[in-house]
Amino acid sequence: MALKITEDCIACGTCVDTCPVSAIAAAGDKYAISADCTECRACVDCCPVSAIVD
Ligand code: SF4
Ligand code: SF4
Repeated sequence: MALKITEDCIACGTCVDTCPVSAIAAAGDKYAISADCTECRACVDCCPVSAIVD
């Protein structure tokens, strides 16, 4: 999996609604990307704190 969500995540949930394959879900007090990710990168630009990185 190439993309991951860093500790900078503020759990706003924006990326969850942006992901076309529902690959992002809550993980503790942050969010995480599952193996269903197709690396379309739609979530990268939607994150307000740039917490989704390669
Ligand atoms: S890169 Fe695309 S498929 Fe992967 S988590 Fe982000 S929005 Fe979803
Ligand atoms: S858009 Fe960014 S800050 Fe918001 S839940 Fe997703 S990774 Fe976290």
